[in-house]
Amino acid sequence: MNTYARYPLTFERGEGMYLYATDGRRYLDFYGGIAVNSVGHSHPHMVKTLQEQATKLWHVSNLFQIPDQERLATRLTQDSFADKAFFCNSGLEAMEGALKIARRYHYKNGQPEKWRTITVQGAFHGRSLATIAAANNPKYLEGFGKPADGFDSVPFGNMNALRDAITGETAAIALEPIQGEGGINPASLDYLKALRATADEYGLMLVFDEIQCGMGRTGKMWAHEWADMAPDILASAKGIGGGFPVGAILATDKGASGIDPGYHGTTFGGNPLAMAVGNAVLDIMTADGFLENVNKVSGYLWSKLQKLVADNPTVFETVRGAGLMLGLKCASGVVAGDMVKALMANGMLTVGAADNVVRLLPPLIAGEEHCDEAVAILEKTAAETASKAEG
Ligand SMILES: *Cc1c(COP(=O)(O)O)cnc(C)c1O
Repeated sequence: MNTYARYPLTFERGEGMYLYATDGRRYLDFYGGIAVNSVGHSHPHMVKTLQEQATKLWHVSNLFQIPDQERLATRLTQDSFADKAFFCNSGLEAMEGALKIARRYHYKNGQPEKWRTITVQGAFHGRSLATIAAANNPKYLEGFGKPADGFDSVPFGNMNALRDAITGETAAIALEPIQGEGGINPASLDYLKALRATADEYGLMLVFDEIQCGMGRTGKMWAHEWADMAPDILASAKGIGGGFPVGAILATDKGASGIDPGYHGTTFGGNPLAMAVGNAVLDIMTADGFLENVNKVSGYLWSKLQKLVADNPTVFETVRGAGLMLGLKCASGVVAGDMVKALMANGMLTVGAADNVVRLLPPLIAGEEHCDEAVAILEKTAAETASKAEG
């Protein structure tokens, strides 16, 4: 269907940080399939795991025990705020399930009148009827009738507005600790702490959408860990499967307490093939030095991008984000979408976002040498853009 304005480019092979197109060109991957290829392309451990699992068992449904699913759940929960995990196949499924779980908590807790969720402006939570209503972005709501009820949107980062929106019907607060599609907008650590305190004060479920910013992207396994606080429920997807469709809801025992057999489910989610791959991603990410490398490399890239922005004020306005989730906001007169195309022509893949931002979401295996290469392409493209503007 006519859902995307696709680039006229076809890739036939990927290796590490690079994609190879059918036109024979090699591209530096600084978008990672939109933050999905967390461990790069064709990682030998991923390939071997998928191939071995493919010879054994693909799918049995959740009517039966799935040892690799239990293993992945245990691994994801033992080093995080969470006690429970649920696996699905995509981001929106994780987010929509997280919202359901938050509502069910209050229902089972004897307060069925609490069902509404406070969300924030600039959010993106997926494309289902509920998640487009949650994000409340007019661009994604148009033409789909009256938005699903149950969501109250307030300005991002404004604690007073959020507290004013709380009523006796409020069940939850849901947001991305770092907005992705909205233009790489990080919440301040103080705001995240205040959200936790407010959720506790009013007995609300705090739901984080870490579909884009989680799974090591910021240099910690979960973005909220930088703020020394935790949500009750978290949605994950994208990087968790490294390219295989995997989503997950993580929750504390309390957060998940509303769910009993029959109230949520999935046919495909958490199947043996997906869980083998999910465990392989975690093998790589929990190996010694992996997250340290994300921190080291992202610090290196950050300082280079600061200089790039300072050197090219007519092209870039600012750099923002955390870890390897960075956004270059283009100067007025420069269109982010054109910049993405110009970078592509120069051999580097990035992805646009709202607010005139070029997103950099490289696989988390990126090294300083890849950052050097990326910055060289950015400098070259900026110079071309500046001289075109003058001409
Ligand atoms: C991508 C994304 C989603 C939706 O994920 P899908 O797998 O496309 O359904 C939801 N929330 C955030 C923050 C995302 O980045």
